[in-house]
Amino acid sequence: MSILTYLARRYVAGEDRADAIKVARALNQYGIAATLDNLGENVKTSEEAELSVKEYLSLLGDIASAGVDAAVSLKLTHLGLDLSDELAYENARRIIRSAHGYGNFVRFDMEGSAYTQRTIDILLRLRQELPNVGCALQTSLLRTQADAARLTDNGASIRLVKGAYKEPPSVAFKDKKDVDDNYSAIMKEILMRGNMPAIATHDERLINEATRFALENKIDKGSFEFEMLLGIKRALQKRLADEGRRVRVYVPYGKNWLPYMMRRLRERKENILFVVKNIFD
Ligand SMILES: Cc1cc2nc3c(=O)[nH]c(=O)nc-3n(C[C@H](O)[C@H](O)[C@H](O)COP(=O)(O)OP(=O)(O)OC[C@H]3O[C@@H](n4cnc5c(N)ncnc54)[C@H](O)[C@@H]3O)c2cc1C
Repeated sequence: MSILTYLARRYVAGEDRADAIKVARALNQYGIAATLDNLGENVKTSEEAELSVKEYLSLLGDIASAGVDAAVSLKLTHLGLDLSDELAYENARRIIRSAHGYGNFVRFDMEGSAYTQRTIDILLRLRQELPNVGCALQTSLLRTQADAARLTDNGASIRLVKGAYKEPPSVAFKDKKDVDDNYSAIMKEILMRGNMPAIATHDERLINEATRFALENKIDKGSFEFEMLLGIKRALQKRLADEGRRVRVYVPYGKNWLPYMMRRLRERKENILFVVKNIFD
């Protein structure tokens, strides 16, 4: 087993949707909800995009028949955004309509900044017809405060993240402190405005700030949720759930795990050192 495969086991549920459902069921036992993501991005043909749609439609059916508490997350480039906006829109619409029939919810992940505006445009277009869709926004981007206000006015649920993509200084903050400060400011705005925002971070300082802010402003703990990634800060996930807070874990599965895993590796110096050490050992 390669070192990358070994690490992938920490961050990825497995190759099949049955693996993801199993992990969701285990999380549910701790009072933690899930959002299931079929790994894949930047597909180059409409046939690949179609396979992804079919997988999500089957996944929604399996979530319903298993009776697990799980929503779904997806990337628009997995549905054909690199081919055309119209294809990604139509494919996403099929998935969101199906989710609506099951009373389920779909969240668009936010990809690199080249896709931000297109993702938001598709989201707002879909929300004219279907309420059960929201997206992630990244506090690393200079534009995000304005995007958060626009989406909140629209009634869309925002998942606030710091951002996992390397971005040029023309569009993004360079200092981590600025990304964190922007997170704190936007987090407070979306907590105040409602629409079931998701505070998606493993940063305990920000998580504590969110709980304190909610308490001070009489924001009910059932009206927002914390989200974390599978395999990261498990004890914290459980502790928050034990305190009666809404917690959701992002559960990726599938064969195309490499780009996802590389983003997770880059986020933490210790991960890189671990890989390097194992390569040279
Ligand atoms: C539910 C969810 C959905 C996401 N969706 C998106 C998205 O759509 N688009 C996007 O660009 N990004 C997304 N991300 C990733 C996000 O942008 C960050 O890259 C990632 O969460 C790390 O930032 P942090 O907020 O945890 O803060 P950081 O300051 O990076 O980390 C805080 C602490 O968390 C721990 N930690 C963080 N990352 C790791 C890791 N990989 N391995 C082990 N420990 C770690 C460390 O202890 C670290 O000190 C998502 C994150 C979550 C939780």
